[in-house]
Amino acid sequence: MPENPLRQLPSVHQVLEDPAAFGLIERHGRAAVAEAVRAELDDCRRRLKTAREKSDAPLWGQIATRLERMAAPALRRVINATGIVLHTNLGRAPLAEEAAQAAYDAARYPLSLELDLDSGDRRSRQHGVRQLLQRLLGAESGTAVNNCAAATVIALRTLAMGREVIVSRGQLVEIGGGFRVPEIMAASGAILREIGTTNITRLGDYEEAIGPQTALILRVHQSNFRIHGFTQSPDIADLVSLGRKHNVPVIDDVGSGALVDYAQFGLPGEPMVAESLRAGADLVLFSGDKLLGGPQAGLIVGRTELVTQIERDPMMRAMRLDKMTLAALDATLRLYLRPELALQRIPVLKLLSVPTAELKRRADAIVSQIAGRVSAVAREDVTFVGGGSLPDQTVPTVVIALQPAEGDEAFAQKLRCGEPAVLSRITGGAVLIDLRSVPAEMDSILATALTAIL
Ligand SMILES: *Cc1c(COP(=O)(O)O)cnc(C)c1O
Repeated sequence: MPENPLRQLPSVHQVLEDPAAFGLIERHGRAAVAEAVRAELDDCRRRLKTAREKSDAPLWGQIATRLERMAAPALRRVINATGIVLHTNLGRAPLAEEAAQAAYDAARYPLSLELDLDSGDRRSRQHGVRQLLQRLLGAESGTAVNNCAAATVIALRTLAMGREVIVSRGQLVEIGGGFRVPEIMAASGAILREIGTTNITRLGDYEEAIGPQTALILRVHQSNFRIHGFTQSPDIADLVSLGRKHNVPVIDDVGSGALVDYAQFGLPGEPMVAESLRAGADLVLFSGDKLLGGPQAGLIVGRTELVTQIERDPMMRAMRLDKMTLAALDATLRLYLRPELALQRIPVLKLLSVPTAELKRRADAIVSQIAGRVSAVAREDVTFVGGGSLPDQTVPTVVIALQPAEGDEAFAQKLRCGEPAVLSRITGGAVLIDLRSVPAEMDSILATALTAIL
């Protein structure tokens, strides 16, 4: 009777005694190597059972590869050449140097997070950000939570739990990633009162819905889609006068959080936070990491009485910002105190303001470096500013269109797995390297990454 080949497999302990293991143990630690060896032996066992082939010893090459894969962090730095400046899957807005440094300092050293250094008294961690929001936006007050979804939930929960919130059917949107207005409303404990139709909601529809159960009127910026043609919805000023007449606060969820006018970058129609406040909205909600160009955060600005009520909600503690994010947000907002500085320092603003002629010059330079290895041409195109949960706005751009022999999908995969990883966009059989989302200082690294895999 032939001997059971499974018995010939060495034990984990025996494998670890092999001199070939020493280098790996030095590099990865004994526990990780043991884990990789165990997994490799399991694979050998499975192969033997199915293929019934004679055992060979576990393969050191495979163990080493397994260890490298285990050691690689899931969060890797990438070059965003998708053209989408605010790419949710790639972390949305990159921070300004000042903001990143502030987050670093907050992470490494103790700081006056909840302390007034003059008096030595305790002070709200929101103090600094609140003052900046007041100065920048002319807001009565302001506060910050983890993201705009949290801002919506806490505002509705505090101000409308068990009561009705009036929303136009045209604004019952899904922003992406599970942010659906009706579901957020349900999660907050507020009761949704839908009015109007998908394309038409009139001021009269709002007025008819107001009753003793009404807590709020909510307007939601549609963000990622537009209805064209026969449409109508009252503007924020009309909603504010209606709200005042009936003593119902109006909340404006503007989403992207433009602090400057993005029309100058060819993005008309992005609601500006300050305008909404000027029109009289009682509260305005927006994200920190979209057009504002800061860290992930949700900002709530508006009437002191409402902001104070929200801050007193016990749930606030579960949604408040940590010290690193708060420091990064503070530093980002501080840049906006000098708008010309914001344009130079905040990456989102900087990326969106590069003229296409400049992008073309950079693209030509990269093409000349990779010429001969692949069919590559630099040409003008358009790209979205945000993907998924962000505005549907497009901006002009310049792309390097590559037509690799191996096919677009295979080539894009190679780019993703390169060092550094490069994220591209595929259109019409070509792999596009879009420079709209690439800071100029990354061009040479990008060219090197491309050359390496070509
Ligand atoms: C993006 C967006 C949100 C969600 O913001 P997060 O910061 O991603 O939580 C909410 N409302 C509107 C209108 C948005 O555009």
